[in-house]
Amino acid sequence: MTPTAANGATAAVMTSVRPWRATVLTIFPDMFPGPLGQSLAGKALDAGLWSLDTVDLRDFALDRHRSVDDAPFGGGVGMVIRPDIADAALAAIDERPGPTVYLSPRGRVLDQARVRMLAEGPGVKLLCGRFEGLDQRVIEARALEEISIGDFVLSGGEPAAIALIDACVRLLPGVIGDAGALDEDSFALGLDAGLLEYPHYTRPAVWQGRAVPDVLLSGHHEKIRLWRRQQAERVTEERRPDLWRRYMAGRN
Ligand code: SAH
Repeated sequence: MTPTAANGATAAVMTSVRPWRATVLTIFPDMFPGPLGQSLAGKALDAGLWSLDTVDLRDFALDRHRSVDDAPFGGGVGMVIRPDIADAALAAIDERPGPTVYLSPRGRVLDQARVRMLAEGPGVKLLCGRFEGLDQRVIEARALEEISIGDFVLSGGEPAAIALIDACVRLLPGVIGDAGALDEDSFALGLDAGLLEYPHYTRPAVWQGRAVPDVLLSGHHEKIRLWRRQQAERVTEERRPDLWRRYMAGRN
């Protein structure tokens, strides 16, 4: 067992809380755990630090073809997931922990603050859309929280669900062996503080005539910290005027 998994298992036993629980409603349950079964998230899943269940939307279909969609009222291309079928599936997972999210390009764009809140809660239920999307009435009737992972259109909600779960799982206690890595990078200088991260360098010290910045070889921790903060500020100002404005406003 790797040190990460061992630490994680100990943390789970010591706190004896129920593991964070993700429930995914999808017509492609075979897409899970997929990438979530590998690396950090996969080890944490094996160690019981979090759990993942899929529920097949087609199990709630009303016909023998197991269809979950129908043509849109008003015409137009594509198909729409029926509200009655989505609702029956959502009712079946009502008791599971966490808020119910519909992954949708029309939702609020996911950010690290929402990820942190979800990771601090008991889990999340995720409805993955397909086709043209989901009938509006079930979104309203169940007050589904709509979350987008960015201003682009996927062919289905599954990759978005995987991205959201991955972002949450790495914040769960014990998943990243060295929790200081999270505090220093993602929290102090990362997106949480409103800044993009500083650039990273490793060996060799000179590569293709490009040298690593001298300060990083100086062993002077305070200078290095300042340099990294300056770099984080510079790259944020250059690349993300929106984050930069918020960061500057927050400092006053
Ligand atoms: N006709 C829709 C797109 C449907 S894409 C529109 O233009 O808004 C099919 C499914 O993929 C959606 O129901 C949603 O669940 C998922 N999806 C697509 N893009 C996404 C994004 N950026 N974030 C989250 N989910 C997305």
